[in-house]
Amino acid sequence: MLDRTSITAFGHIINGKVVDRAENGGIDVVDPADGRVFARLPRGGAAEVDRAVEAARAAFEGEWGAKSALERGRILMRFSALILEHAEELAELECLDTGKPLTQARNDITATARYFEYYGSAADKHHGETIPYSKGMTVLALRVPHGVTGHIIPWNYPSQIFGRSVGGALAAGNACVVKPAEDACLTPLRLAELALEAGLPAGALNIVCGLGMEAGAALAGHTGINHISFTGSPQTGTAVAKAAAENHVPVTLELGGKSPQVLFADANLDEALPVVVNAIVQNAGQTCAAGSRVLIERSIYPEVMKRLAERFAALKVGPGIDDPDCGPIVSARQLRRVTELVEAALADGARVVAQAQKNADAPDGGYYFPPMLLDGAAPDSRLACDEIFGPVLAAFPFDDEAEAIRLANGTPYGLTASVWTQDGGRQMRCAHAIEAGQVFINNYGAGGGIELPFGGMKRSGYGREKAFEGMVSFTTIKTVVLKHG
Ligand code: NAD
Repeated sequence: MLDRTSITAFGHIINGKVVDRAENGGIDVVDPADGRVFARLPRGGAAEVDRAVEAARAAFEGEWGAKSALERGRILMRFSALILEHAEELAELECLDTGKPLTQARNDITATARYFEYYGSAADKHHGETIPYSKGMTVLALRVPHGVTGHIIPWNYPSQIFGRSVGGALAAGNACVVKPAEDACLTPLRLAELALEAGLPAGALNIVCGLGMEAGAALAGHTGINHISFTGSPQTGTAVAKAAAENHVPVTLELGGKSPQVLFADANLDEALPVVVNAIVQNAGQTCAAGSRVLIERSIYPEVMKRLAERFAALKVGPGIDDPDCGPIVSARQLRRVTELVEAALADGARVVAQAQKNADAPDGGYYFPPMLLDGAAPDSRLACDEIFGPVLAAFPFDDEAEAIRLANGTPYGLTASVWTQDGGRQMRCAHAIEAGQVFINNYGAGGGIELPFGGMKRSGYGREKAFEGMVSFTTIKTVVLKHG
């Protein structure tokens, strides 16, 4: 656990070394639980990104690129084991940096280790193909790494998104440059140190801290990058894709969501309601796949709202380290954004049905927004369509299956959805009709499932991460045509 009595200065990790520690100045790291500064990060820009890309290129063309798939996999498996050995330290760091409840931070670290276990064990099982093209010829479709990959990650799941993105890229043989979010760099930095300890050669994994408009933009537009994996907001995703397009660099975009949770009258409510609440309260609603809309068949609407209201009112809200149901929002800026969006929704006709209370002993300087249940908004209102990225659940009634599907698809997003019904035909009709990268029937795992391909439709982005698919994204095909007679 970090000593919070004196400010700790962190540095970038470039070419296997911690460099440019932010001894004087840089970016303040604030504990969202009480608003106190407890660490500082360096504010990297184009020069640091240049150094990191150069180091990654040298590793790709040198020691890292020379490793067999088996050797790469073994290093990643060792890295996974080291993450588990340091799980408690990493979970506390993630909890301090992001504000999330300790149990959740522990789950995130276990998931991060699992990413490196999954991709480490997959590294030597990623085969190319042969193509029966013509007699006297052999055609090989080889799977080759892109080269140097850029990874721009957000603050909400810094360790998990690091794992899912860097895990697939390294297993496929790429060398990586990561730009974590300025609000959550600490676990990626510590993870990179552990990767070096596990035997990853210098330069194979570099981390540059800095602001989005500076270090992030420099990475997105860098001519030495061969692929970019971006996770974040749709607006920034557009800027990153445009910058990469200047260099004809492929991009994977994992963007936001406004995921519906659809409750039909025959749903098992005892099973569904705890999951529906958790899907929006998890990580204080700051989850791309948060279940932020609940669509309820009209005949059960009063009962469901009453039961949801009771659950919301009973939630515990406080510092993540005390392990409540809901921790603070990550920053003062995000808290302002959530508050403004909710005020606009109320002015637009929405009604507060229930709201949790902050625990009496939660520090005053923290960024708390107790979970809130709203209804009464129009299906085309901003509350129904915009991502709030806070613990705010909006409820809407529907009359039949066709209306449920229309509402489910009625936003610009298409990331995930859940459908709760006992009717087998309806389960499959909804699974096919709902426009989303993942549809869960009678269960929901916001962001979960390392083995499950993940990514968006519509404004939620394109490309897939997680699962084997996530590793395939970090390769391209080289076709070799051999004429031998
Ligand atoms: P953001 O877009 O503001 O920032 C994401 C990252 O991009 C950060 O590292 C930031 O520093 C960097 N960045 C900012 N401006 C940049 C620029 N001009 N060029 C290059 N990089 C830049 O997003 P955020 O507020 O950190 O995260 C919240 C958003 O991320 C939400 O919309 C959420 O839904 C989305 N998200 C999506 C997924 C997913 O897998 N689909 C997962 C987590 C978060």
